Amino acid sequence: MNRSRSMHVVLLGPQGSGKGTQAKLLAKQYKLAHIETGAVFRYFAAQHNTLGRKINRLINVEGKLIPDKMVIQVIAGAMQKVPRKQGIVFDGYPRTLAQARTFDGLLKKAGRELTHVIYIPLRQSTTIRRLSLRRICLKCRTPWISGVTIPRRAVICPQCGGKVIQRKDDTPPVIKKRLREYLKKTKPILSYYKHRGIVMTVDGEPSIGTVWRSIKKHLHDRH
Ligand code: AMP
Repeated sequence: MNRSRSMHVVLLGPQGSGKGTQAKLLAKQYKLAHIETGAVFRYFAAQHNTLGRKINRLINVEGKLIPDKMVIQVIAGAMQKVPRKQGIVFDGYPRTLAQARTFDGLLKKAGRELTHVIYIPLRQSTTIRRLSLRRICLKCRTPWISGVTIPRRAVICPQCGGKVIQRKDDTPPVIKKRLREYLKKTKPILSYYKHRGIVMTVDGEPSIGTVWRSIKKHLHDRH
C-alpha cells in the first residue's frame, strides 16, 4: 500500500490508553517504523552511570518528563535511521508543546509530514487500574495484562520466552505523578494540532480490538 509510505502518526493519550499496543498494530498493518521514546529512556535508566541514574530518578521515582533538549536529540537520531520513504508511528512523543513545535521543524527538514494525530482519551480511574495490572516483556516489549492476558504470577513471556516484569513507574504513587505531568504538559498539545484538522479521537475505554477497529475505520474514512 503506497499510502503507508507517507503516513506519520502521533499517538496522544494518557498512560494506559493503549498507545503502545495500537502503535504496534499500526506499524504492522501499515509497515511503519515504530519510535517509542519511553523504551529509549528506560534503556538509558538501566545504565549504571550518572546519566542513567538521573533518568532513572526522573522516570521511576519522580514520574517526571525527561528534559525537552534530550528528548529532541533522541527523536532526531531515531528518525534519521528510518528510510526516507517509510512512514513512522510516534509513541510517547511529542509530550510537551516545545517538543511539538520542534517536531514540526524536524519533520520538515527530513521531508516528512505529520498526517494523523490519534487522540485516545481515558478516565483517570481506568489509567490507575490498567497500569497496576500492566506487565511488559523485557525482550520483545509486548505489554501484557496480569490475570487477563497472562497468568497473575507469570514471569516468562508467552510470545518470546523473555522475562516479564512490572515497570517500576507502574506503581500507584508514581502513576499519579505521571498523570499530573500528562494533564499539565501533554494534553495541551491537543489544541496545538486540532486546528490542522489531523486529529481523530478514539475512545480508549473499550477493548484493544474495538479501539483498533475504530482507528482503522477512521483512517480509511479519511482517505
Ligand atoms: P512511556 O513509556 O511513554 O510511559 O514513558 C516512560 C517515561 O519516559 C515517561 O514517564 C517520561 O519520564 C519518559 N518519556 C518518554 N517519552 C518522553 C517524552 N517525549 N518527553 C519527555 N519524557 C518522556
